[in-house]
Amino acid sequence: SRTPLIAGNWKMHKTIAEAEEFIQALLPRVFSADGIDIGICPPFTSLQAMVDSARGSAVRVYAQNMHHADQGAFTGEVSAAMLSELEVQGTILGHSERRELFGETDKSLALAVPQALEAGLEPILCVGETEAERERGDTERKLRHQIQEGLAKVADDRLADVVIAYEPIWAIGTGLTATPEQAQEACAFVRALVGQRSQEAADRVRILYGGSMKPENAAELLALPDVDGGLVGGASLDPEAFAAIVEAA
Ligand code: 13P
Repeated sequence: SRTPLIAGNWKMHKTIAEAEEFIQALLPRVFSADGIDIGICPPFTSLQAMVDSARGSAVRVYAQNMHHADQGAFTGEVSAAMLSELEVQGTILGHSERRELFGETDKSLALAVPQALEAGLEPILCVGETEAERERGDTERKLRHQIQEGLAKVADDRLADVVIAYEPIWAIGTGLTATPEQAQEACAFVRALVGQRSQEAADRVRILYGGSMKPENAAELLALPDVDGGLVGGASLDPEAFAAIVEAA
C-alpha cells in the first residue's frame, strides 16, 4: 500500500535550457503513470522552471539540499522557506556527496529533517555505508547511527512523512549495483530501525534504493518487499532511461 517513488537526482547537471528539454521529453512518456510518484531533483537554478513546466503532471520537483536554519549568514545556502515558496515537493537531505565532499554531519541533518517537515517539504534522507564499512561488517552500525541521528528530532507521528534513501556509497556512480539480497537486507534493516520508534511509521515509511539503478536492473530491485522506489543518479539524466525505470516500478 506504499506508493512507489522514483526520483531522479541530477546532481550538478543541466542548465535551465537542458532541464526544459528533458521535461518536455519526459512528460509524454510518463503521462499515463498511475499509482506511482515521480520526482526530479534539479540544481537550485532550474527548480522554478521545472515546477512551472511540471505543473499539472505526475512529476514533482525536489531540491537537492537545504540548510537547517531559518535564515542567517550562511553564504551559498538555501532555507526551507525559500524552497517551499517555489512550491517544490521536498528536498534531498544528507546525500553522501554532501556528507563526504561538503562536510555535512548527522548533527546538522537532525535539524534539517524536522525543519523541512515543518515547512511542508518532504525530506528524502540519504543513508549508506562505504565499501570499507561493508567489508568490516559495519553496515548495520553505520545505518543505525545515521537513521537514529537523522530522525532524532522528528516526532513519531511525522516519521512516515520522511522518505529514506538507502544508497550504498560503493554503488554510487560506479556501475556496481547492490545485489537484490543486499538491497533488501539493508532496506529491511532501515525499516526495522524506524519500527523501533513506531511500528505504524515503519509500515508506512517509503524506503528507496539508490546506486547505479538503471533500466536493466530496476525491475528486480523495485520488486523487493522493502524497496519502495529508487533514487536514480546517472540514468535520470536521460528522459528515455528515466521513463523506463518509472515503467519498471
Ligand atoms: P547513480 O545512479 O549515478 O549511481 O547515483 C545514485 C545517487 O547518488 C542518487 O542520489
